[in-house]
Amino acid sequence: MKVLVINCGSSSLKYQLIDSETEAVLAKGLCERIGIDGRLTHTPAGKDKIVIEAPMPNHTAAVSLVLEQLTDAKNGVIKSLSEIGAVGHRVVHGGEKFASSVVINDDVIKEIEECSDLAPLHNPANLIGIRACQELMPGVPMVAVFDTAFHQTMPKKAYLYGLPHEYYEKYGVRRYGFHGTSHSYVSKRAAEIAGLDINNSKIVVCHIGNGASVSAVLNGKSVDTSMGLTPLEGLIMGTRSGDIDPAIIEFICHKEGISYETMLNILNKKSGVYGMSGVSSDFRDLDAAADEGNERAKDTLHAFCYRVAKYVGAYAAAMNGIDAVAFTAGVGENSPSVRKEICSYLGFLGLTIDDEKNNVRGVERIISTDDSKVKALLVPTNEELAIARETVALV
Ligand code: ADP
Repeated sequence: MKVLVINCGSSSLKYQLIDSETEAVLAKGLCERIGIDGRLTHTPAGKDKIVIEAPMPNHTAAVSLVLEQLTDAKNGVIKSLSEIGAVGHRVVHGGEKFASSVVINDDVIKEIEECSDLAPLHNPANLIGIRACQELMPGVPMVAVFDTAFHQTMPKKAYLYGLPHEYYEKYGVRRYGFHGTSHSYVSKRAAEIAGLDINNSKIVVCHIGNGASVSAVLNGKSVDTSMGLTPLEGLIMGTRSGDIDPAIIEFICHKEGISYETMLNILNKKSGVYGMSGVSSDFRDLDAAADEGNERAKDTLHAFCYRVAKYVGAYAAAMNGIDAVAFTAGVGENSPSVRKEICSYLGFLGLTIDDEKNNVRGVERIISTDDSKVKALLVPTNEELAIARETVALV
């Protein structure tokens, strides 16, 4: 079956067409500037990418252009839309309603709408993508795959905040966690590569990209993760602050005379390694600045790695030990120096990184020494493939 995977944001839409039998990516691409002007970058497998500037007043127009390209005589990879057997949609927040992926129907759409309160920037955009596909591909089964679902196995002690209980009961204020599709995929792959039985394993997944989170996966189930009610909690990220003393918000709002909304925007978009370093949110730029002697860039990188290591240490306590630590996403897959610095804190667990094995980018492999008690691994994430697999399993 050919599965179209859609990841829809407020002004962008990423897609992949995947052959579920061979798991090959037939085409992939990105629509940007939806509602502004519109640009489609389409890459058919084995061919050069094509950039098309075309008006995309809304997401339906964007999906329509994508479908045109997929079936185009020259750039296309299928003859007709009838070849698409199912569509898998990434949905950010499933609240407590969705502990696994579901086939989309009217009730599911209503429930995703009800979760929008918890992810006002993401869920409405995901729904727009779902509706656009339904309009253009009537009758094709669609599946929602939630970023939060994998973490629904967290026990209460991990997801309850130290807040009056009524906020949990009235508004669902608790920790949910995100990047679930990635944590699920990477933990399973890590177990396979490390030769562990997933049903008897203690794995920590460090998903470190622009957004970053760590998870504790015990016997294949998430028992804790660093993101919370929203993706703002936890690690220092590209532009997000991660954990801070909540009193800082009022303190800075008062000092600077700014609103909570402005402060929240600063915590989401102007903080993290970007705000700390004053250089960039991109670790390549940070590395370059640090190499040139920029002290703030160096401090930022050290603070970033230290925070990740502290979470790994915490999860060793949560699971009473660790068998493997897996690194994934943009930074985790591409930065040997960040992996090395994080692992330098984990010697007490019996983890020793192998510098030579670690000196790679984007390939699946063990990066710890042969005699390392705890294995360190590099496992490139593949959220689209995971979504396609979930979709096929349900339809
Ligand atoms: P997200 O999906 O959260 O937007 P990604 O997982 O794609 O983010 O990660 C993007 C980040 O990966 C970039 O901002 C950059 O910091 C980092 N990155 C990519 N390539 C490299 C590299 N070669 N060395 C170090 N960091 C890299």
